[in-house]
Amino acid sequence: MAKKIRYLDRNKEPMIEASERVKSFREYALGFSPNLALDEAKRCLFCKDAEQRCIKGCPIHVDIPGFIKKITEGDLLGAYKKIIETDVFPSICGRVCPQERQCEGSCILYYDTVRDRKAKGLPVSIGALEKFVGDFVRISGIKLTEEKALPTGMRVAVVGAGPSGLACAYDLAKRGHEVHVYEALPKAGGVMRYGIPPARLDREIIDYEVQRLESLGVKFFYGHVVGRTVSLSQLKEDYDAVYLSVGAGRGKLGLKGDHLKGVFSAIEVLTRVNLMEAYRFPEAPTPVDLGRKVAIIGGGFTAVDCAITSLRLGLETHVVYRRTRETSSARQEEWDHLLEEGAKIHWLTQPVEVLGNEKGEVIGLKCIKMELGEPDESGRPRPVPVPDSEHVIECDSVIFAIGQQANPLAYEGILETTRWGTVKVNEMYQTSVEGIFAGGDVINGGDTVVRSLAHGREAAKFIDEYLRTKNWTFTGG
Ligand SMILES: Cc1cc2nc3c(=O)[nH]c(=O)nc-3n(C[C@H](O)[C@H](O)[C@H](O)COP(=O)(O)OP(=O)(O)OC[C@H]3O[C@@H](n4cnc5c(N)ncnc54)[C@H](O)[C@@H]3O)c2cc1C
Ligand code: SF4
Repeated sequence: MAKKIRYLDRNKEPMIEASERVKSFREYALGFSPNLALDEAKRCLFCKDAEQRCIKGCPIHVDIPGFIKKITEGDLLGAYKKIIETDVFPSICGRVCPQERQCEGSCILYYDTVRDRKAKGLPVSIGALEKFVGDFVRISGIKLTEEKALPTGMRVAVVGAGPSGLACAYDLAKRGHEVHVYEALPKAGGVMRYGIPPARLDREIIDYEVQRLESLGVKFFYGHVVGRTVSLSQLKEDYDAVYLSVGAGRGKLGLKGDHLKGVFSAIEVLTRVNLMEAYRFPEAPTPVDLGRKVAIIGGGFTAVDCAITSLRLGLETHVVYRRTRETSSARQEEWDHLLEEGAKIHWLTQPVEVLGNEKGEVIGLKCIKMELGEPDESGRPRPVPVPDSEHVIECDSVIFAIGQQANPLAYEGILETTRWGTVKVNEMYQTSVEGIFAGGDVINGGDTVVRSLAHGREAAKFIDEYLRTKNWTFTGG
């Protein structure tokens, strides 16, 4: 009998009610139960040409029908093994990938990528299924024996323990190399640890993945700021190869009045709260003082995470973005969650000045309204100012969540860089210095977890090849 196509009845992931979830940093998306997961898995049509659809939509090309099929067969361990062939951190990607722009955006139930036209319904909840499988293996305590090649005697240093460095370390360790990870912060995870709030990504999950790496023999050295405590050149001398994955974690300001007391970069606020647990101050030593009302400038992941954070600190929260919701790069469902939690979102609003009082403290954010005009070079309609639309959003603090910059401390004066300050690499992730590879946000200036992870895995393959052949082809340019 032909399979009935279930276009619309996508299973919703259970959530903690908005009024409750704003009271704590506890993760609010509760995940599928086995029954919901099975029912959702059965919505998949197992398209024969999935490689042109959902698999192509996933930056790391997870075999999506393959792992979903295993769920329908009740083989959750098999589903997990299928996913980690490509995505080594299923519980993380299942939670944080912007699936609507990636795998789910190419699901035939939602969008027919082959015929390039909208289909009738809602995509299979691929992310939630991936999270379910990853969580099942972690929570049930199954001890996986991950295969590892015999020791090669080669040593590789990984600089930066974000998703890119962790993925690279994982693959290099499995290939039998000795891997040492140097990380500036006291814990591993990169943005996943200091940026994304625990309300979206429980820290237990990052700890679990780090332990997986440790059990493969990877050694972590925390509190090592490469460029200060040890130089990149020294690491190159001490190891057979180096993978640089220091991200792009330097915050950006840039508006009249941004010197005032109460102006913060997103990275500072998020690090204080999510890494140093400022919400527990004074029990935790690090405070964060944002007053009672905060205005957050930006419309991407970072702005959303600042808003999640400030709402949980009990603040009146305004998000100010010059474009529209549809053009924002954050996950669309996150905007719904923020609205449910009481955030005030000002679309098509351009901040022009941070206003202060005579003591130099923030008292408001002066803005103008925008409307959509002709498309810009990216093809998106360019926001243009609406005449006489100036207004002030009263606030005690302003957070700039408008993108990050690369922090060149680790590689300044050593590696060739682009005019944006990112590290130049060739298609094999080789930099201008033989033996040093780079990937993740440090080469692309800011992208997604899964793309950084993909860089780490691909780079590991090229590092392994280099260790065996010593072939170096970077020519600059
Ligand atoms: C607030 C925020 C929220 C985000 N949310 C999402 C999301 O929901 N989904 C998504 O897909 N993407 C999201 N992103 C983007 C994503 O997190 C990044 O693209 C990804 O983390 C980049 O990975 P990476 O490993 O290259 O760098 P990072 O994650 O930045 O890790 C770099 C690591 O290097 C360390 N380091 C830096 N300098 C040195 C040094 N000199 N010596 C030693 N160590 C050093 C840092 O401490 C850090 O641990 C978000 C980004 C931000 C800022
Ligand atoms: S890794 Fe991310 S994009 Fe790829 S299938 Fe999983 S959730 Fe989708």
